[in-house]
Amino acid sequence: MQVRGCFGYRILLGLLRQKTKKQKMKDEFLMAAIAEAKKGLEEGGIPIGSVLVKEGKIIGRGHNQRVQKDDPMTHAETDCLRNAGRIGSYKETTLYSTLMPCYMCAGTVVQFGIKKVIVGESKTFPGAPEFMRSHGVEVVDLSDPECVEMMEKFIRDKPELWNEDIGVD
Ligand SMILES: [Zn+2]
Repeated sequence: MQVRGCFGYRILLGLLRQKTKKQKMKDEFLMAAIAEAKKGLEEGGIPIGSVLVKEGKIIGRGHNQRVQKDDPMTHAETDCLRNAGRIGSYKETTLYSTLMPCYMCAGTVVQFGIKKVIVGESKTFPGAPEFMRSHGVEVVDLSDPECVEMMEKFIRDKPELWNEDIGVD
């Protein structure tokens, strides 16, 4: 009995360790979205990145290009969807973004029938999660510290650019 108890304890410890390891591992698709955001920042733009995932594969990537293209409509999500091209149905896709989508991008998500949106954070910008949820979209906020830090630093460094992006005078 004692041996079995010890064995059980070891299994439990192993499971606990595995769980901790898993929790520490960041979502690979969020990491890809962060890489896009960093690309945008290097180009002198706003660090928001996005990827579109279908059947476990990235089928589109993009980042905010308001500054780079002098285009207020090119948000990370729209850039990503544009780069994915015409894919037919969006039913099986998940859209990742480093930041909670704004009303324009949330509208695109609903219009295209994307069923799931996973975001890095919504602390620095609330976006439109309730709008998406009210249309049956599953919205997951990972509250990722790296995403929060990236936006907080950007807002500190370039407040005028950020206010322009979110339409605040
Ligand atoms: Zn947007």
